[in-house]
Amino acid sequence: MNIGFIGLGNMGSGMALNLLRHCQESGDTLIVFDINETALADVVIKGAVHGRSVVGLCAQCEVLFTSLPSSKEVNLLAFGDDGILANLKEGATWFETSTNELSEWQKVKNEAPSHLTLVDAPVSGGAEGALAGTLAIFLGIDEDVLTKFESLLGVFAARVVRMGPSGTGYVTKLAQLHLNYLVAQGIGETLMLGAKANLDLSVLHSVLMSSCARSYVVESYIPKVLDGSYDTSFALGLAEKDMRLITELGQHLEVSMPLGDKVYSTYQQAKKAYGYNAPHLSVVRLMEEQHNQLLRS
Ligand code: NAD
Repeated sequence: MNIGFIGLGNMGSGMALNLLRHCQESGDTLIVFDINETALADVVIKGAVHGRSVVGLCAQCEVLFTSLPSSKEVNLLAFGDDGILANLKEGATWFETSTNELSEWQKVKNEAPSHLTLVDAPVSGGAEGALAGTLAIFLGIDEDVLTKFESLLGVFAARVVRMGPSGTGYVTKLAQLHLNYLVAQGIGETLMLGAKANLDLSVLHSVLMSSCARSYVVESYIPKVLDGSYDTSFALGLAEKDMRLITELGQHLEVSMPLGDKVYSTYQQAKKAYGYNAPHLSVVRLMEEQHNQLLRS
């Protein structure tokens, strides 16, 4: 079987390397493509086939994975004579793992030829989880399709969860992210309370870790504030995009989300101050500047 992978960034590179290891054991072939030549070369040098172009890659693949920044890039690659929909092999299945928006994905699905199967398959677990093969993947998928591909998805995902029909994967991802960003912004306020009262922030972190406040965000984000890196594995611009999708989903489902609205506006402010490519925890930097106080251990 030929497996295609487009988008070899922070997430895609880790998922692709796990798929490559699987292919090297099973005799399958991994064909990859990215517009970033360096990202592409890093995976090709390990044994993946250079896809040359979207058309070239799609024409050969029974299964396709994409990991792209947003719906803008997904749609750009999906549509047109040189796009995925026009060139993917007869009967192929496309797992779209980006954090994407429901309404845009629906447009892609509406244009897809009936011989293709399109699955919203967003992931959670960060770049380190992608590399370690421990991601969670949330699927809007029919049961028979999942049965066919469950073991392949298990190559990079420790949790493969069928959420329901098409679209439910993306909704799950956005619900999960909503809480993630609320807590991510909240750690700035918690650490600031500690810093202003002259607490040792490393000790405060260890206390939080053994308290009811413990979570992945507390565990892995706080050290990346305390060391001043703000977590370079995920861009602030992508976080701001996620918050936009979350508030739009709230509007669509008529769910009032005052906390979400507040957090979205802070991410917008942070992106304006530090730029799209700044690390996502720069949202805490805003608070440091407002209080003229660095949060360091
Ligand atoms: P990234 O920016 O690091 O990677 C995106 C990749 O897509 C880049 O290598 C880029 O060159 C490539 N790309 C862009 N346009 C392209 C095109 N037209 N053709 C081919 N390749 C193209 O982003 P990321 O952090 O890996 O995130 C990818 C997706 O996963 C996003 O939707 C993000 O929201 C989601 N996500 C990220 C994380 C994380 O922790 N980084 C976690 C969960 C979900």
